[in-house]
Amino acid sequence: MTARILVVDDVKANVKLLETRLLAEYFEVLGAYSGPEAIEICEKDRVDVVLLDVMMPDMDGFEVCRRLKTDPATSHIPVVMVTALDQVSDRIRGLEAGADDFLTKPVNDLQLITRVKSLVRLKMLTDELRLRASTTRNIGIEELLSRGAGTDDGTPRVLLIEEREIQADKVARYLRDKAEVKVVVDPQMGVFEAAEQPYDCVIVSTAFSDYDPLRLCSQLRSIDRTRFLPIILIASQEEEERVIRGLELGINDFLIRPLDEQELVARLKTQVKRKRYNDRLRASVTQTIEMAVTDGLTGLHNRRYLDSHLETLFERAVARRRPLSLMILDIDRFKAINDTHGHDVGDEVLVEFATRMRRNVRGIDLACRYGGEEFIIVMPDTEFAVAARVAERIRAEIAGNAFAYGSDGKTIDVTISVGVSSLQQPKDSAAALLKRADVALYEAKNGGRNRVVSKAA
Ligand code: GH3
Ligand code: MG
Ligand code: MG
Repeated sequence: MTARILVVDDVKANVKLLETRLLAEYFEVLGAYSGPEAIEICEKDRVDVVLLDVMMPDMDGFEVCRRLKTDPATSHIPVVMVTALDQVSDRIRGLEAGADDFLTKPVNDLQLITRVKSLVRLKMLTDELRLRASTTRNIGIEELLSRGAGTDDGTPRVLLIEEREIQADKVARYLRDKAEVKVVVDPQMGVFEAAEQPYDCVIVSTAFSDYDPLRLCSQLRSIDRTRFLPIILIASQEEEERVIRGLELGINDFLIRPLDEQELVARLKTQVKRKRYNDRLRASVTQTIEMAVTDGLTGLHNRRYLDSHLETLFERAVARRRPLSLMILDIDRFKAINDTHGHDVGDEVLVEFATRMRRNVRGIDLACRYGGEEFIIVMPDTEFAVAARVAERIRAEIAGNAFAYGSDGKTIDVTISVGVSSLQQPKDSAAALLKRADVALYEAKNGGRNRVVSKAA
């Protein structure tokens, strides 16, 4: 994993020290000796993780962190605060400034490397999602996300997996008013619960009498439904090795007993915030993909989708020796509708037509807008004769019920012409199937429109 780490410290020797350790792990290292310099580098260069000294003259680490986290261009870069003392108050100030993690000077090597690695992994995931979202859509991803950020996602739902009742009560008490906490005692039940309900975070206590908490964490990481669910581990002072293994397995954060109330609240808040940010990213990627294959006016699939999916449906039908039929439906004299009533009314007719078409096909049929006023329905598992009947039914429905437009009950008579074709086993192709339907449609138009022509072969 090659990543670029920015080390920020006003003392040159400290930068050098961390640099040497990180270089030994093949990270790329940049150095900055003041807050403003660090911010400038983050804005200009690609930085994957920032290690930020708290005590610096002029602009201290908290301020640097706050600025990085409030600028949309840098807010996604993980920041690790490096504090001189293991001061709880410093940690809380840092978390409030948006820091993702902490290290205490003198920095423990193992902790340094594992924490940096785990943040890098998280950053790569976020980068990948950002990239996918922004390359497929030109509208600003930042704007989309900040729009989401303003909305209240509601009280975080937390699953606490803890065997000891007293400890569980304590966590629940600390989080009252802050989160909705569900306690599960049995670790295996905890995994099921996490997979079944929409939690925002899981808190796992290491103190099971008869169960390896890390196995629990690795199960949560391997199940699809919980792969991205943040895990906070609660461990005791002497369990450092276990915590490090946990970080390697993908836990997101940890707390050491005795629990500090404010720290628990702040770390939970950070995890939930990050999860919701990534959820929004993922949703926007999914939405982008959907938009790319959807027709904006009618909500049907578009030609791009049909072109790739028809091939799949065709191959599947051939392989299974199942029938497959297809029809092309074209609105008659649509240009005249536009010319007489205007383009907007034309659009209304297209939308209404799509609605009626959808109503007349099954869920497994693929209905799409192929272009202008031309539509295609692909029907898996459908014999030629059945497809012809469906086509005739749609034609009659359109011709028999005038289209309403505007708001005062005016109507237009609309008719369509339809060409139908079916898969001919075994020597056929998706292109030939499409072509036969098109030829049939042409015949329907030439034959006087408002009719169905079916081409068996
Ligand atoms: P035919 O019966 O031969 O199909 O005649 P037609 O007028 O329907 O066919 P033609 O292909 O000549 O014209 C199609 C018209 O559809 C031309 C185009 O301006 C219009 N059109 C294409 N897309 C849209 C759209 O999204 N909205 C509207 N309102 N009109 C569209
Ligand atoms: Mg037409
Ligand atoms: Mg046309």
